[in-house]
Amino acid sequence: MQNPLRGDDIVFSYFNSVDLRFGENAISSVNFTLYGKKAFIVTGKSGSSKKNSAMKDLLNLFDSQGISYEFFSEVEENPSFDTVDKGAELFRTKRCEFVVGIGGGSPMDVAKAIAASAKMEKKVADLYRIKDTISCYPVIEITTTSGTGSEVTQYSVLTSPDDKKLGLRTNKLFPKVAIVDPRYTLTMPVDVTISTGLDALSQLVESIISKTSTPLTDAIAVKGIELIKSSLPEVVKHASSLEHRSNVAMAATFSGLTISQTGTTIVHALGYPITSHLGIRHGLANALTLSRIVKNAQRFDPERVKIATAPFGGVNGLSEFVDSIYPRPKLKLSEKDAETFAGEIDLKSGQVLNTPGNYDFGFVKEIYMSL
Ligand code: NAP
Repeated sequence: MQNPLRGDDIVFSYFNSVDLRFGENAISSVNFTLYGKKAFIVTGKSGSSKKNSAMKDLLNLFDSQGISYEFFSEVEENPSFDTVDKGAELFRTKRCEFVVGIGGGSPMDVAKAIAASAKMEKKVADLYRIKDTISCYPVIEITTTSGTGSEVTQYSVLTSPDDKKLGLRTNKLFPKVAIVDPRYTLTMPVDVTISTGLDALSQLVESIISKTSTPLTDAIAVKGIELIKSSLPEVVKHASSLEHRSNVAMAATFSGLTISQTGTTIVHALGYPITSHLGIRHGLANALTLSRIVKNAQRFDPERVKIATAPFGGVNGLSEFVDSIYPRPKLKLSEKDAETFAGEIDLKSGQVLNTPGNYDFGFVKEIYMSL
């Protein structure tokens, strides 16, 4: 049977084991007692989960379901191996039985890694080489940003002691439950709204242009891109619109579902050094190179790019949309810095190999020089 979108045979798989609960008050449908009697609650440092009421909702439910808990509120943006190791040690000392991550991608990724590290009684650095054989304590994720989709992915992206962002990827890391309540995103400041919204857009577009795309991920991603196109500009202007927040939250979760199948592309690979060395937020780092990579991919797989950019009327429309949300700054990297960044890209990784086009050191360096 022919795939009408790609012209090749339809052969694809889909595996995602997360029990997803989406919508206002979605948390109330979760029976936490299925996962243990004592929870380890992982949050970021700036206390956003208290402001957006996710923590209050969780603790009320814990009280009514007879669950005790410990807090670990030390997760920084682009979280480090050290933070995971510290959390895993505390989890074990306090004899917790499951992990709840509340926040954006940073606390959600740390929650997954703590669950694995504590169960395996190993430092997180040691999990990368044995990732497919690990086991984990149960993880429940409550997302409060609309961007990474980490609540439904099997990835934990962490920063190593030498400042490299490294993705730990294994099906063992899929959370048990993902709770997406758009009300929790209403408190996001505009800079976080923009960075996370563009992360979702990038992931959706990347999943379509990827050589690993499938008819199912295409269908989810196209819908997600349409939601971003209609509602991201609205939430940037009107932070309190629950209708539009809901649409962007749905698009972000869709982006997690798609990358849980396809992975990301060289766009993400290029973004990691920009974040590590220049401190530019993850979603913005992706936005800097997205249109450039999509333009390049068009020469090698125009059909894929047509599907990904159709909601914007083509590649130029995508580029204009990104600029309208985030006027991209000029980085003006020196040649030496561009070489350092390019040297950190693993040109043999799935992210690079699955992107239509040929990407060598010179090409990547030139992209960095052009930013
Ligand atoms: P984040 O780093 O989790 O959070 C950024 C900031 O937003 C923090 O200060 C956080 O506060 C605040 N914040 C979160 N929710 C808020 C709310 N509702 N109201 C007000 N402030 C809020 O941001 P992110 O973009 O969601 O996550 C980025 C990380 O995810 C990166 O490390 C990236 O590599 C990773 N990532 C993972 C995946 C995956 O599949 N695993 C995919 C893409 C990206 P707190 O300090 O209180 O938390």
